[in-house]
Amino acid sequence: MSQKRKELKKCMKRLDGLHKELQRRRTCKRLNNYMEQLKELQRELDKRQPQKFGHPVCESQMIPHPIKLHEYTISFCQLDNCGRELLEDALNARCNAYAPYSNCKVGAAFRSKNGRVFTGCNVESVAFTAGCCAERTALVKGVSEGCRVFNAGAVVAYHPSGYATPCGVCRQFIHEFAKMDIPIYIARAPEISEQLPAFEDDAEVLVTSIYHLLPHSFLVY
Ligand SMILES: [Zn+2]
Repeated sequence: MSQKRKELKKCMKRLDGLHKELQRRRTCKRLNNYMEQLKELQRELDKRQPQKFGHPVCESQMIPHPIKLHEYTISFCQLDNCGRELLEDALNARCNAYAPYSNCKVGAAFRSKNGRVFTGCNVESVAFTAGCCAERTALVKGVSEGCRVFNAGAVVAYHPSGYATPCGVCRQFIHEFAKMDIPIYIARAPEISEQLPAFEDDAEVLVTSIYHLLPHSFLVY
């Protein structure tokens, strides 16, 4: 009897082993299926990724405006006199902004080649497209008085989380009268409620340039 029990135990053990082997093979098969599905998904994802071409930097002579100036941020008190004066003029001009529809008041100032500074504010209209941005107001004032080349500009507006840079139309317009890469100083205006607005010494200023803002301007021949 004990012999029979031993043989039965051996058979049970073998069966158990076979059962485990079967399970392992089934698991492997299932794993292989999963792997195939994952690979298929990966191939699909790869197809949808934007392609990286890795072309060399273009040296074509057809690109007319290589950027000459650096773009950086600096505190107001560390800024050069040219930038500080323009920003203060722009901030003062902003007080005259007429923006009852957007409530986004903007001031701008541009220094002409002969040193005169022209300021402007945005002027809105109930017919929105008839309104004018601060940058173009300032430049139009200058051009209408005979100045057609400007060598620096400043724009001041309040934006809760960033810099209020010139709109696309103004970038093209500034470009028209810049003739070369010129610095554009951009700062966040202090709160509108202040009667006599002024920049804090540690106010951050973005010093950019017209070619940074508009690397490919519209051209005619
Ligand atoms: Zn504009």
